[in-house]
Amino acid sequence: MRIRSVYLAGGIKGFTNQQFRGWREEAEATFNLAGIGVFSPARKPLFGSDQIFFREDLREIKNADAVLVEYRNRFRNYTGTDMEIFYAYSIGIPVVAFVGEEKDWVLKCDCGKEHKGQAPSFWLKQTCDVVVPDMEMAIEYILSLNDKKYPEKYLN
Ligand SMILES: [Zn+2]
Repeated sequence: MRIRSVYLAGGIKGFTNQQFRGWREEAEATFNLAGIGVFSPARKPLFGSDQIFFREDLREIKNADAVLVEYRNRFRNYTGTDMEIFYAYSIGIPVVAFVGEEKDWVLKCDCGKEHKGQAPSFWLKQTCDVVVPDMEMAIEYILSLNDKKYPEKYLN
């Protein structure tokens, strides 16, 4: 398999600009160095037809060779991301998610307590080739698909 383009899935709505754009820009720079292009939904205008965005996103996933998923925020809704993951999985496109470290899944709340976020659902592990803590590991796995050197330690 030759990876030529990667779709960058993850939270957008309810995230700050830095949260939804920062990692995508880093990932794009890394992939570009390896001669790989990206489809980034974060590049789309913030306002427009939801139906057009939805259809475009699905078309881009279909045209991608892999999907990289940001899934780090344990207190946000990832409904769109979840559906993108399942769509890619169901049409046989490799999906790789980075979920952060468990110790970071804690929210210091206004009520004075710390709340622990939910661990990702087992559906994530079933639909992703690999689920890893950080983006670098996830990108390393995608790049490894090009030369078929699968890092065994990441495989589910
Ligand atoms: Zn609270």
